[in-house]
Amino acid sequence: MRSTLWFLLKLAILVAAAIWVADRPGHVSFDWLGWRIDTSVGVLLAALLLLMALAAILYRLWGLIVRGPRRYRERRGERLRLKGYRALTQGMVAVAAGDADEAKRQARIAHGLLSEPPLTLLLAAQAAQLSGDETAARRYFTAMLERPETAFLGMRGLLNQALAKGDSAEALKLAAKAHEERPQAGWAAKALLDLELKQGEWVTARRTAKAAEKLKVIDRDRYRRIEAITLLEQARLEPEPVRATALARDAARLLPDFVPTLAIEARVLAQAGREREAEKVLEKAWGRGLGHPALASAYAALRPNESALDRARRFERLTQSRPEATESRLTVAETAMAAGLWGPARKALEAVAAAERAAPSARLCRLMARLEEGEHGDLAAARRWLMAATEAPPDPAWVCGHCGATAADWAARCGHCGEFDSLAWKEGARVQLALGAAGEPRASEARYLPVAMAPASPPAAGSAGGEAKPADSAAPIDAARLIT
Ligand SMILES: [Zn+2]
Repeated sequence: MRSTLWFLLKLAILVAAAIWVADRPGHVSFDWLGWRIDTSVGVLLAALLLLMALAAILYRLWGLIVRGPRRYRERRGERLRLKGYRALTQGMVAVAAGDADEAKRQARIAHGLLSEPPLTLLLAAQAAQLSGDETAARRYFTAMLERPETAFLGMRGLLNQALAKGDSAEALKLAAKAHEERPQAGWAAKALLDLELKQGEWVTARRTAKAAEKLKVIDRDRYRRIEAITLLEQARLEPEPVRATALARDAARLLPDFVPTLAIEARVLAQAGREREAEKVLEKAWGRGLGHPALASAYAALRPNESALDRARRFERLTQSRPEATESRLTVAETAMAAGLWGPARKALEAVAAAERAAPSARLCRLMARLEEGEHGDLAAARRWLMAATEAPPDPAWVCGHCGATAADWAARCGHCGEFDSLAWKEGARVQLALGAAGEPRASEARYLPVAMAPASPPAAGSAGGEAKPADSAAPIDAARLIT
């Protein structure tokens, strides 16, 4: 509409100019190169206009002939690049959707159309991985290492491949290289830290943990824990007593309430000939409410050659700051029974049984069985307690939070799956008891427990406990009924 108006306007101006010229007639004549031209001004003007128009058209044509092929090439290149990027995008979408064949097809198209190896290599590697062709993926990742802009990505791809294959030595090498190349990359620091911890590279792991904490890949608490546990593990393995003691002390400063720290600190102190100091570490910890079977066995191990009676007396000292605690009572009962001191043992166990009236622990039940048999030779009562032990929840143990394996002693790494810091003191699995009894009724579990315990020692003279009145064997287990 506007162009029509514009055209009409131009036409009107032209007509007006023509009329203006026609109204003022004039004559032009000139001689040139032997030619003589006589004409009116109007015709001359019209001829001039025509010439200008012709020149413009010729100029246009000339431009098309000269620049045409280059522009055509440019446009074609543009179209192909667009197609290439479209293929790249569709390939990425196919990777995300898990369509391996489509991803491979698009990767091929993109590779043919684009001159950008970084992008097409990445797509090709991902497509290869998606279709399970790890060898081809490895080839692409390795090719990516050649170019500075893709080297880091290639390293990551190779690292993930090594991890998936379980090749931890190769993975550690790649992670170390990646971390060295880009210390700011969080994933590289994290991957390197995990690998170093799993492979027991304690000294370098501490350094990496510090870097990871700075990058906020791990928090401050986790860093402290890694620092403490790696120090502790070094202390455990260090043959030189003075160095081992220093390492254990450093660990204890960072994790003062962690039971394995205390047990290991005591052990290395004893190895350095400082038994009394070691005892004090454990006695103090017990006094802080950290009573634990691992501390008791560390305490016992400090003097391996003492008599049972000496040990019972020494354990009185360990537990004296917290005589009422369940762990203290059970520990005292254990050492007292080993020394044939049935009276104090019964007193301690009955106190625990009264507290655990509703649900006696398996450990209490076993100790009670030993007491009944040892003190009075009451095999029937002992057997009932052993039955009760099989009904009770399993004893706590060091259980791996990663694979569920149970360990007798704490270690920085799970002995089964190698995971770092995965052992926690908690209720163990029932699997071990049920293993032999698969498919059999629960009651049969009892036959896997020693019914006849160690040879009965003569009952101690001053037995403090009341007489055992065994309950009906068919009745549900009730700790109170069993002991009063
Ligand atoms: Zn494990």
